[in-house]
Amino acid sequence: MQIDRNLQQIQQQINQACIRANRSISDVHIVAVTKAVSIKRTEEALQSGLNHLGENRPEGLINKQEAIKSPAIWHYIGSLQTRKVKQVIHTIQFLHSLDRLSLADEIQKRAEHTIDCFVQVNVSEEEAKHGIDLKDVQSFIESLHEHNRIRIIGLMTMAPNTSNEEVIRSVFKGLKDMQIKIANKQYPHAPCTELSMGMSNDYEIAIEEGATYVRIGTALVGDESEDLT
Ligand SMILES: *Cc1c(COP(=O)(O)O)cnc(C)c1O
Repeated sequence: MQIDRNLQQIQQQINQACIRANRSISDVHIVAVTKAVSIKRTEEALQSGLNHLGENRPEGLINKQEAIKSPAIWHYIGSLQTRKVKQVIHTIQFLHSLDRLSLADEIQKRAEHTIDCFVQVNVSEEEAKHGIDLKDVQSFIESLHEHNRIRIIGLMTMAPNTSNEEVIRSVFKGLKDMQIKIANKQYPHAPCTELSMGMSNDYEIAIEEGATYVRIGTALVGDESEDLT
């Protein structure tokens, strides 16, 4: 796996999407999603200069953190069970999947530092998707103003699994509109300046629509999940 080469190509695509959207490339961060690859390949990713790593299961996160000694910035990107909070909350800098009050309460209880969180939003309102409905985002964020261990730095969504670019784009636009609306409220606990959106198949559209964190797995580090189990 040539992570260096994948990264170069992805950076080029990101660069061009930024030019099309008249954005600065320094505002776009790549989170390398290592959930489906080995420790060895995760170390390769770090050597390629990727220092933001994303995992979606407590076990995967902890295994990698124990094995990997070089410094990394850890993002938890998957749905998080309340009872697993105490295992992971001390080891992450970013949580992309804050989607309910009971999870926020548990983080408030267990965290020893402020966690930068994205509220996960179900923009497309697919039944199977996690996340808060768009219409409930503002009241959810308002309800967190006393949770001083949580800083709402932005919103996160997953686009529907479709090849229809316009559908994907409208989901990203919907998230961006909500992000601006919340940011304009200037809540001290919720600066809400960031947008976590875009994966291997749709990160260019996401960047055109304002993504500041793209979460890229397969296109960057591949998928070894068949071999790992
Ligand atoms: C797996 C996953 C990704 C990365 O998906 P790819 O299609 O492999 O890039 C991004 N975000 C979340 C929440 C994921 O679970």
